[in-house]
Amino acid sequence: MVSDSYSVCVYCSASIGDPAALELSRQVGAEIGRRGWQLVSGGGNVSMMGAVATAARAAGAKTVGVIPKKLVHREMADVDSDELIVTDSMRERKQVMDERADAFLTLPGGIGTLEEFFETWTGAYLGMHDKPVVVLDPDGHYRGLFAWLEELRERGYAGREAMDRVIVTGDLAEAFEALRPGR
Ligand code: AMP
Repeated sequence: MVSDSYSVCVYCSASIGDPAALELSRQVGAEIGRRGWQLVSGGGNVSMMGAVATAARAAGAKTVGVIPKKLVHREMADVDSDELIVTDSMRERKQVMDERADAFLTLPGGIGTLEEFFETWTGAYLGMHDKPVVVLDPDGHYRGLFAWLEELRERGYAGREAMDRVIVTGDLAEAFEALRPGR
C-alpha cells in the first residue's frame, strides 16, 4: 500500500480522445493532487484514464492503478503508477478498486464506465457502503441517462432515495465538495 491518503476512485473513458474530455480529466487529476488525495484508477495509460493519472501525479498525488492482466496491453498499463495491481479478472479489478476507494467519481465514459458507476451507485443505495458517489458532467454527456432515470422514478421503477444517493453536477468544485471526507 503506497499511502493512507484519502482515495478517490475515478471512472472514465478509456477510448475517447476528445480534447475537452481530456482537459476535464487533467483538471480532475490536478485537483486530486492539490488536495493531497490519492487516485485509484483502472490502471491504463490511455485516453481520459491516462490523463487523470498523469495529471494527478504531476500535482503530487499518489496513484494506484488496478488492471486485469488481459488488458495490460490493450489499455497500456500505467507503469508510472505508484502502485500497479494486476488482477486475474475484471471482477477482481472492480473489487480492488472499490476496496481501495473512499469515494467514487464518474466522468464521461462509455459502457465500461457505466458498468462501474452503476455498481457503486447500487451498492450505495442498498447500504453496502456509505462512500460518496459523484458524477461530474460539465457537458451534458449523461443528460439523457439521468432524464430517463428520473422518468423511471416517476413510473415507480426507481426510488427517490436511490436518486438522492448520487450527486450529479457540472461543476468541478461542487463535485470535489461532494467527494470530501465526512460527506
Ligand atoms: P469505457 O467507458 O467503455 O471506455 O470503459 C472504461 C473502463 O472500464 C475501461 O478501462 C474498461 O476496461 C473498464 N471496464 C469495462 N467493463 C468493466 C467491468 N465489468 N469491470 C471492470 N472494469 C470494466
